[in-house]
Amino acid sequence: MLDQTSLEHLVRTVGPHEVYNLGAQSFVGSSWGQPILTGDVTGLGVTRILEAIRSVDKSIRFYQASSSEMFGKVHETPQRESTPLHPRSPYGVAKAYGHYMTANYRESYDMYACSGILFNHESPRRGLEFVTRKITDGVARIKLGLAHELRLGNLDAKRDWGFAGDYVEAMWMMLQQDAPEDYVVATGETHSVREFVEIAFSRVGLNWEDHVVIDPKFYRPAEVDLLLGDPTRARKELGWEPKMSFQELTETMIDSDMRRVSLLGGQAPSLVRISA
Ligand code: GDP
Repeated sequence: MLDQTSLEHLVRTVGPHEVYNLGAQSFVGSSWGQPILTGDVTGLGVTRILEAIRSVDKSIRFYQASSSEMFGKVHETPQRESTPLHPRSPYGVAKAYGHYMTANYRESYDMYACSGILFNHESPRRGLEFVTRKITDGVARIKLGLAHELRLGNLDAKRDWGFAGDYVEAMWMMLQQDAPEDYVVATGETHSVREFVEIAFSRVGLNWEDHVVIDPKFYRPAEVDLLLGDPTRARKELGWEPKMSFQELTETMIDSDMRRVSLLGGQAPSLVRISA
């Protein structure tokens, strides 16, 4: 993402019809500690790919992974394609830059370039530093006797969490249209971190209040309190519908971590070891 020459070489060698840019320093929490790297990779990286496509073959279709974090301190609820941006982290600011650059290449060079404004999307493959996976991994460790507590930050934050598999389908649909458009991809439901915690612990028969410790270390310098997306445009124009419910998503992640941690026990990579 930092090397123009290799991006151009890659596009020339592979000769793709479609490019999906999901490359980023994607963890909001780390973006305060690495604001310049985050801007370079997550923001300018988008322009490097767009330039590579423009110089090799302008007809390649481009998808940019924009983010609900761009809405940040939200100006309206629910958030839609027209909602003004107010990012609250170096990550959100970098994503806003990439979002506008994608629109600018569409308008300047008549390229099929568009952004999906994806709200949080999760799965058993989610990185352990993100709150959903941190919780499901922590619950499994506690249930299986490998840990006693789970340290978390702000339990009041609310997110519109969907299943990553459903969202990837929306990305693909966006590149199969007659004309490029930006779309919000979300479930239209919001839940607090506390609710996620409650469902996760109760799935394995534990009471969350016996194990969760609030640690100020996990509070952010500026918080995004509430995200709730309005996916009406994606429903109407793409015919897209999210298939997995919030409850099912939470349970799928817990069940997967229970299997993984019981199989690998103390050998299962943990957040402590990756030091996030
Ligand atoms: P984000 O929406 O991209 O920042 O996704 P995250 O999963 O990293 O964070 C979602 C929300 O959970 C944010 O509002 C965090 O402040 C909140 N949160 C509370 N405790 C934690 C924690 O221990 N780790 C993380 N990553 N987030 C936490």
